[in-house]
Amino acid sequence: MPELIIKTLEVGMLGTSCYLVMDGSPGPGFIIDPGAEARVIVEVAGSSGMACRGILCTHGHMDHVGAVGKVAQALEAPVYVSEPDSGALTGHGQGITGRLTSLAVSKPGGVNIIRGGDTLEFGKRSLSVLETPGHTPGSVSFLCDDNLFCGDLVFAGSVGRTDLRGGSFADLLDSVIRHVFTLPDDAVIYPGHGPSTTVGRERASNPFLRELGARGR
Ligand SMILES: [Zn+2]
Repeated sequence: MPELIIKTLEVGMLGTSCYLVMDGSPGPGFIIDPGAEARVIVEVAGSSGMACRGILCTHGHMDHVGAVGKVAQALEAPVYVSEPDSGALTGHGQGITGRLTSLAVSKPGGVNIIRGGDTLEFGKRSLSVLETPGHTPGSVSFLCDDNLFCGDLVFAGSVGRTDLRGGSFADLLDSVIRHVFTLPDDAVIYPGHGPSTTVGRERASNPFLRELGARGR
């Protein structure tokens, strides 16, 4: 079985983490959250020998979807997003400020709706879709083996903000209990901003989640 390759690109003014997840290099794979700098992302995908199976969006905020349209077009790849957050890609979305923006995927039918329990295959591997609302109503995470790509759900030592439109701290905590703290301690979390971390580390020391961690035991 080819090695699982995970490449991290920090893009845009908010330092969004865009991930390339591949079944070997060269090999098939997905691009998660191309928030900006489409040209760089397309270049790295090309130099890695990625056969892009699709663009995956953890949620609809501009700093995560800003380059979706360009990357999808350049790589002729389908786009996957949850229904509640799909407006960001089809012209009715909100930016991080709540300001209306329109962008991205101009081709009708270019956006595919994903739901919890869906699996997306690449080579001999697959990513499964987890519904993890809280930061936005339609936030999803992607799990591949014990690697969790969680967007703005959990960060190393912090959690995503829930004061933006549609956010809910109660929902975010519920998502963590259901889908993060059910993973083994050595599962790796790849957040939407900042360094990667592990489930065990966040369970033990994340100030926003420490109480939940104790309860989850
Ligand atoms: Zn966000």
